[in-house]
Amino acid sequence: EKRNPGQPEFHQAVKEFVSTVMPFVLDHPDYLQHQILERMSEPDRIITFRVTWRDDHGNIRVNRAWRVQFNNSIGPYKGGLRFHPTVTLSVLKFLGFEQTLKNSLTGLPMGGAKGGANFNPKGKSDNEVMSFCQSMMIELFRHIGPDKDVPAGDIGVGAREISYLYGQYKRLQNQFHGVLTGKGLSFGGSLIRTEATGYGCVYFCQEMLNHRDDSLDGKDVVISGSGNVATYAAEKATELGAKVLTLSDSSGFIHDPDGITPEKLEFVKQLKEVRRGRISEYADEFSSASFHEGKKPWSVDCDVAIPCATQNEISLDDAKNLTDNNVQVVCEGANMPTEFDAMHHLMKAGVMFGPAKAANAGGVAVSGLEQSQNALRMSWSRAEVDEKLLGIMKDIHEKCVKHGSTGELPKDNIDYVTGANVAGFIKVADTMVAYGAV
Ligand code: NDP
Repeated sequence: EKRNPGQPEFHQAVKEFVSTVMPFVLDHPDYLQHQILERMSEPDRIITFRVTWRDDHGNIRVNRAWRVQFNNSIGPYKGGLRFHPTVTLSVLKFLGFEQTLKNSLTGLPMGGAKGGANFNPKGKSDNEVMSFCQSMMIELFRHIGPDKDVPAGDIGVGAREISYLYGQYKRLQNQFHGVLTGKGLSFGGSLIRTEATGYGCVYFCQEMLNHRDDSLDGKDVVISGSGNVATYAAEKATELGAKVLTLSDSSGFIHDPDGITPEKLEFVKQLKEVRRGRISEYADEFSSASFHEGKKPWSVDCDVAIPCATQNEISLDDAKNLTDNNVQVVCEGANMPTEFDAMHHLMKAGVMFGPAKAANAGGVAVSGLEQSQNALRMSWSRAEVDEKLLGIMKDIHEKCVKHGSTGELPKDNIDYVTGANVAGFIKVADTMVAYGAV
């Protein structure tokens, strides 16, 4: 904390990681001798820059942007860009740190990075968002490249923003190659990339349940958020026989006891992706639903909870509400949505807890597949990419089981947090040891 003052989210992420991998590290003197934990928690490089742009009224506006290139031991830097007023260096460092381990878990050759800006796209016109993206790329383009650093989307950065960013990169660099992922299908995007994080998270949840001879079929599921991850998690959970009861945004949550059917979800996609409206409109449209202003969905009775909005959205009190209602699984679609104490409460209560590093790795995995398709100059079919995604999520689950079975607990009682951290750590750490003191 002395070395990184004022970075609470970064401390939280490193603390959670170190508390679980320490016993493993102590068993391997090589890691200690090579100062691997110290080296892994220090980013390779941080780039900070000013983004100046002009709004629709002709005013000059100024934002701050960052790219945190955390670790490229096992492949080019890879990780999303976030546009949100709450973006700080601490948030991006926590995300970049976790991204390094997550990317390692996918088994694909990708290092870890994260970036973004304290820019709020909400309420901005398309023209203003374009102006911001183009200005941001004027600085960012010199730091990225298909073998150097490949950004993607995250909160506030979807298809529209990636298209503006890519268009500007192509103009500045005069090269057409896979420097961003999440691109449109006509310019190198991959099928299933949009759906991948949500689908992958639900595949992981299904694997956890299968491990206990159970499944999602017939389960009541609560989901937070109504963006990219939440929407496709809801779609896949419903497809696998679950009933999705809630969605939310920063203004509150909607509760639909009849379930959010594919037709209702289509309304949400139009609302959020096209009209950029508020989730409360769902309750105006469907009489079965109610809107709860300023509240989170964790007090709704459920079997499975899938947080898909943002960091620290499940507090200890929320976790207690969930266990009071006998939740069986919490599977993280968002990054670090569960506070440290809340996570421990859930695990102690015997809840199956799927940590973000493992559970939401499907998005970056398909981004990795998008890079492969760009390098091959070909596109795989929807079924091919979906099959690969499912295979990767099953493989990540197996790695978690391998490193998260404590021996003292019954065979089906897996510590997925330790499993994911140790499995992600080994590949990066062994590579850093092999490189020597660099
Ligand atoms: P989107 O911008 O598409 O959606 C974010 C959703 O979360 C919106 O409903 C938003 O509501 C809500 N939200 C955001 N910030 C807050 C906040 N501070 N308080 C309450 N609600 C909030 O983002 P994504 O779906 O892409 O990302 C969601 C999470 O998933 C993030 O943690 C992200 O890092 C993680 N993730 C995303 C991946 C991807 O492929 N997109 C990959 C892996 C992880 P509102 O509209 O009101 O702001």
